[in-house]
Amino acid sequence: MLLAGLALPASFAARASSAVVRRVSVVRAAGSTKLLFDLSGPVVANSFALESPPRVVLDLHQAELDASLDGLALAGTPVHAIRSGKTPTGDLRIVLDLTRSGVRGELAVLQGNHKLELLLTGLANQAAASAGAAGAVRERPAGKSNRDLLVVIDAGHGGKDPGAVGAKGEREKIVALQIALLLARRIDAQKGYKARLVRTGDVFIPLRKRAEVAQRLNADLFISVHADAAPRLTASGASVFALSQGGASSSMARWMAARENGADSVGGGLDVKLRKHDPMVAGVLLDMSMNATISTSLDLGHQVLAQLGGVSRLHQSKVEQAGFAVLKSAAVPSILVETGFISNINDCRRLHDVRHQRKIAAAIFTGVERYFRQQPPAGSLIAAMARPESA
Ligand SMILES: [Zn+2]
Repeated sequence: MLLAGLALPASFAARASSAVVRRVSVVRAAGSTKLLFDLSGPVVANSFALESPPRVVLDLHQAELDASLDGLALAGTPVHAIRSGKTPTGDLRIVLDLTRSGVRGELAVLQGNHKLELLLTGLANQAAASAGAAGAVRERPAGKSNRDLLVVIDAGHGGKDPGAVGAKGEREKIVALQIALLLARRIDAQKGYKARLVRTGDVFIPLRKRAEVAQRLNADLFISVHADAAPRLTASGASVFALSQGGASSSMARWMAARENGADSVGGGLDVKLRKHDPMVAGVLLDMSMNATISTSLDLGHQVLAQLGGVSRLHQSKVEQAGFAVLKSAAVPSILVETGFISNINDCRRLHDVRHQRKIAAAIFTGVERYFRQQPPAGSLIAAMARPESA
């Protein structure tokens, strides 16, 4: 049995207690069954399979169920019953009793903060499950004026890719998700802004899919949150990275990009090799538009780095550049924030402190706000609010 638990600090758990499941529905498609959970907000989710009797378990961290599990259209699905309960730690546990073994539950689709999809597949359909990870995310309706600015937040690593691991087994994927959730909450609380998380649970998503989420949603910004290890254990502090089309701006930046890009090799042969003629980049982008995006990303990066300097030691005083695969969203300004080094004892302790996590999230958001105040996108509420001053 594989039970990938999330070790959240108690203070964080208490803060994250608000998610409510408002509706549960079942969708049957060719060769698969999906369960959709409408949520009141972000939730840390985890799913695993158990045998004898066969069942798939979904744990929603500190969530409440305010929906009926009766009368769901289960005919023709591998599910014969659904039940729910509370774990001793207060998590909502939903158990699907299955008619046969070999069925897996994949938390493969994350439609923003308000919908979670549990895809049930046999072993033969696992590829389809991961391919759907970014595929079902819907585009924002076009042509809406006074629209909210959309920030897509990517918590680095996840699932079988733990990211960097600290001296006592601390995992980057957990810290990155905690800070990403706090950042999403901060953004959602601000008028004129809206956040979407690439992952809200402990799931593996290939780098390419992460970049595609921002593109598909036509996001205004993409921020990937990390807490990496460094070859030198004394290395500490925060840094901000943007994409480079050519060489890296420093050996550290090159090393970081190689490390982050290596994440996909954990996913079984999906290794993204950064070549000049990467098919995705060559097929989708013109060099010129990419250069414009990189230049905007650097502006954003400077603002975020300046704010991070107020709450953390900085590892680098300028925004570094290298060929990060996760930052290759055409036309979406994208940065990667290394919030500190999990390999450094002091950084690692602070990164697990929810007060420090909140400060980091607040600093990143202030940087984002300043960036948009200088160049509010046309049609946004932020632009409309800025207009009286400039008239
Ligand atoms: Zn990382």
